[in-house]
Amino acid sequence: MNKQAHCSFCGIKASTNSPLIAGTEGYICESCVNLANKVVANWVRQRATATKDWHNNLPTPSAMKAWLDNYVIGQDFAKEILSVAVHNHYKRLYHERSADKDDQIEISKSNVLMIGPSGTGKTLLATTLAKIVGVPFAIADATTLTQAGYVGDDVESILVRLLDVAQGNVGRAEWGIIYIDEIDKLARVSESATVSRDVSGEGVQQALLKLVEGTSVKLLQKGRKRENNTVMMDTSNILFIVGGAFTGLEEHVTKRVIPGRSEIGFQAPLLETQKLSAERILAETQPDDLRRFGLIPEFIGRFPIIAILEELDEAALVRILTEPRNALVRQYQKLFSYENVELEFTPEALTAIAAKALERGTGARGLRSIQEQVLRRCMFELPSRQEVIRCIVDEEAVNGTGEIQLIESEEDDIEANAN
Ligand code: ADP
Repeated sequence: MNKQAHCSFCGIKASTNSPLIAGTEGYICESCVNLANKVVANWVRQRATATKDWHNNLPTPSAMKAWLDNYVIGQDFAKEILSVAVHNHYKRLYHERSADKDDQIEISKSNVLMIGPSGTGKTLLATTLAKIVGVPFAIADATTLTQAGYVGDDVESILVRLLDVAQGNVGRAEWGIIYIDEIDKLARVSESATVSRDVSGEGVQQALLKLVEGTSVKLLQKGRKRENNTVMMDTSNILFIVGGAFTGLEEHVTKRVIPGRSEIGFQAPLLETQKLSAERILAETQPDDLRRFGLIPEFIGRFPIIAILEELDEAALVRILTEPRNALVRQYQKLFSYENVELEFTPEALTAIAAKALERGTGARGLRSIQEQVLRRCMFELPSRQEVIRCIVDEEAVNGTGEIQLIESEEDDIEANAN
């Protein structure tokens, strides 16, 4: 053995007490072999625990949809598509893990593209699905992503986030779900960038494409004792869901399907009613329609499953206020109950809140701030007014033409009910 030989991992010099095993380009000592053995055994254990409870436990698509119904109002079409996609993805992973390796048929991964206006539940659907299957979940915003080496989040930082959520368990993270929002804005960012190089846009799409297709990425993981470990993460089994508003897509597709819809004059009001259903838009959407938003064909090709979400109308917004498990009205009622106060919204008040949110055009997103505004004064006063037992919010209180009714005693309460 070469007298200068040393372990390529820890650097210890070869001696009679520490003999080295020679490889083609370096050497390794006994303690590094033992350490590597432990690390590899840990990987195997992690991969096994990632899937241990799944045999027969993976919810069926209809069970997933029923579960989603508890949290997400409407969007039945998108819920069905997503439930099938997620069910099939994990069924494939489970069976591939336990399958006979000689099997020639390999089912390829199907990532999902969600199209729907802002505030219609895209993020909510992705988050809830990850909870249902119990896998780690990370969200990223496409507009903040940059190519490696530029200022901003490079695409690999999403994997670091996923690994954090999986508490450092690489096996679990490799079976996780990543949701990337605002995917339709990638190209627009590069258009407006002041630098001449394409910091975002196509370069980011190429980098994302690699992750989506499946690659091994070296990540820096913060260790417990402040030392940093590098871990390898394979992205081929991660389910990628991307979402965007794709403003104008519906219009564009409708124009193609119903020529003349855009004509002005007598026909215009009549044709306004010719709105295509989400199902029809999906059937008519072609890859070229998505390329108009700057998405490169290879990227579009990696998202064969498309789910379209519909704009929420007033009735849907009222349901969102009251029906989901953690509906906003329930949340405020709980908050008020800590002061022993009962909070009540009249049906007209709920409709007025929904109407205001519609005006803002941000879907269900506006509901919370409207409700916060309506209740602000009340929440300011209540903690110092122990005598109040009930608050009634009516249409006038929402529209600012009246006040929230504060009931102080049982007699007042009977009177208020009588009115
Ligand atoms: P998007 O990702 O489509 O822009 P989000 O999923 O982030 O919208 O929605 C914002 C908030 O609005 C959610 O946290 C949720 O409270 C509410 N919301 C939106 N759509 C729905 C829906 N269909 N059902 C229930 N709540 C919804």
